[in-house]
Order: sequence, then C-alpha cells, then structure tokens
Amino acid sequence: FSLNSHADWQKTDYSTMGTNILVEVYHKDAALREQATRAVFAEMERINQQFSTYIDSSELSQLNQNAYKNRVIVSKELFDLLVLSAEISELTQGAFDVTYASVGYLYSYPDKVKPSDEEIQQRLSAIDYRLLELKKDDLSVRYKNPNVKVDLGGVAKGYAVDNAIKILKSLGIEHALVTAGGDTRLLGDRLGKPWIVGIRDPRNRDKQAVLIPLAESAMSTSGDYERYFEENGERFHHIISPKTGKSTHEVQSVSIIGPESVYNDALSTAVFVMGLEKGIGLINGLPEFEAIVMDKQRRMHYSSGLGQ
Ligand code: ADP
Ligand code: MG
Ligand code: MG
Repeated sequence: FSLNSHADWQKTDYSTMGTNILVEVYHKDAALREQATRAVFAEMERINQQFSTYIDSSELSQLNQNAYKNRVIVSKELFDLLVLSAEISELTQGAFDVTYASVGYLYSYPDKVKPSDEEIQQRLSAIDYRLLELKKDDLSVRYKNPNVKVDLGGVAKGYAVDNAIKILKSLGIEHALVTAGGDTRLLGDRLGKPWIVGIRDPRNRDKQAVLIPLAESAMSTSGDYERYFEENGERFHHIISPKTGKSTHEVQSVSIIGPESVYNDALSTAVFVMGLEKGIGLINGLPEFEAIVMDKQRRMHYSSGLGQ
C-alpha cells in the first residue's frame, strides 16, 4: 500500500486480480480521499475473492466444479455477469466467450505450459457460451457439457473499475481515475483539463504508442504483451480464439473507448480475436464505442468516429 499525496490529489497503487490497480482521486478533504481509495481497493479485493478461478473457494471456482453435475444457484451478481457475457458473445459472433477457459485453463504463461493439439481438439467443443444454461427465475446455472469451464478474466477488471467509480461517486468524489491493468475509467476531468490515458507500445514496456485525452469516459486495452511466453519464435498469449483454442496474431493491441469499462473490456478482447477488419467493422456499427487498433505490422487503425 503506497500512499503519496500532494495538494488535493491522492494517487495510490495496489495489486490484486493478478494486476496493478491505480486510483487517483481529487478532494479537499484528505480523510475522504483516503477513505474513498480504501473503499475502491476493498471492492477490488471482494471481486477477486468471488470471481477468481485461482481461488478454489471462489463462487466461480465452485460453479466450475459443480455446474455439470448439478444446477447451481448463483449470486445475482455472477448471474448478471454471465448474462452480459452471453450478450457480448452474441454481438461478437462468439469472438468473446467466457467458456474460452474450457481450453484456456490448459495454458500457464508463467510456466510456459500449453496444451497439445490433441488436447485442444478434445476440449474445443466445450467452448460455446450456449452450453451455459442460465435460468432467470431462480438464478441457476447448468453446464451442458462436462468439459465446460468459465473464466471472467475478459470482463472482471472492467466490471471492477465500473463499481469503483460508482463507489467514488457515492462518497462525493467528482474527479478520479481508476485503472485495473488495461482498463481505465475517468470520473469527471482533471480540473479543467482532460485526463491523458496512454496505450502502451506492445513491444516496448516503457513507451506509450498513443496518448488519448479523455474525460468522463473510459478506455480498455487488450494486448498480446500482458501475459505470454515465446517458444521457437512463436508468441503464446492470453487472448484465445474460441474457434481454434489458440492465441491470435492479426493485431498486437486493441483499445476501445466507451462510457462503461465492463463493455470496453469485453469488446477489446472480442475485437482482438475478430481481427482488424471484422473488429473495426463491429465498432463502426456501435455509435457509443470507438476503437484504436495496432496491427501486426504495427500500423495504427481508427474507427470512423475518431476521424482519420
Ligand atoms: P487484460 O487481462 O490484460 O485486461 P483483456 O481484457 O484482453 O486483457 O482480457 C484477456 C483475458 O480475457 C484473458 O486473460 C482471459 O482471462 C480472457 N479471455 C481470453 N480469450 C477470451 C475470449 N475469447 N473471450 C473471453 N475472454 C477471453
Ligand atoms: Mg477484456
Ligand atoms: Mg481487461
């Protein structure tokens, strides 16, 4: 917990959900800034305990263990996230799919572990969001195939950032930035100026490829550099095509700008999988969202609303 305040701003970083969280809040009352910052981290921690697939007792891990054998009653919160995820799957023709984890769980990036082609083939049919039976009347979930696994890594950080902004607002904060990994949301502006949100150069950690001025908005970036390993010159990274069970290589980075982080997060992952043309095509059809894509040749592409 590193706290360093100056003037009426407090900027704090923290680590949870397997990523770095950054919170910047403005308020005259230092105690309130401190309280607000702590409330955000507590919320992130709560979401991690509930939805992490690395924590065996989490609600999501329990669902993964039991939902093929028995219909499982879940929290309204998990149910709603699964419904939202299924809606994004429909919208993206299955490019975004939380059941990617049916194969995705076989990868371990820090250990350079990947499944064989045979293992992928055995499990690929379990990647299909339509295998999740979601019953609204009793908030129950059943998996229709024994190999189904769900992971919310493609939306949970965006969801957490949205919740954080709600908490800050409810405490009377009017200017803030919350970032969780690649997901950033801004509350208000930076006192008369926009916030400047960077898109990292996918091949140079210390460099920003693009800087975007934003206020009262949000942006999420998905890149092939967050979690990956290389073997024989091939990059195996954490964004998996539901069609192949393998990472995709048409683009290096996708950023989505839109009002809410949960959608930006899911759509950035989806557009990454869809690739340049289909991905930007999708975003051009959604008036609330814009996209910035770096392709595999490191050329930049922008959706029509960004006026290139
Ligand atoms: P980050 O984890 O850096 O925020 P993303 O928002 O792009 O990056 O999310 C990538 C994560 O999404 C992966 O680590 C994995 O948990 C999950 N994921 C990977 N492929 C898919 C997919 N096709 N659909 C949904 N989620 C996915
Ligand atoms: Mg995402
Ligand atoms: Mg994300």
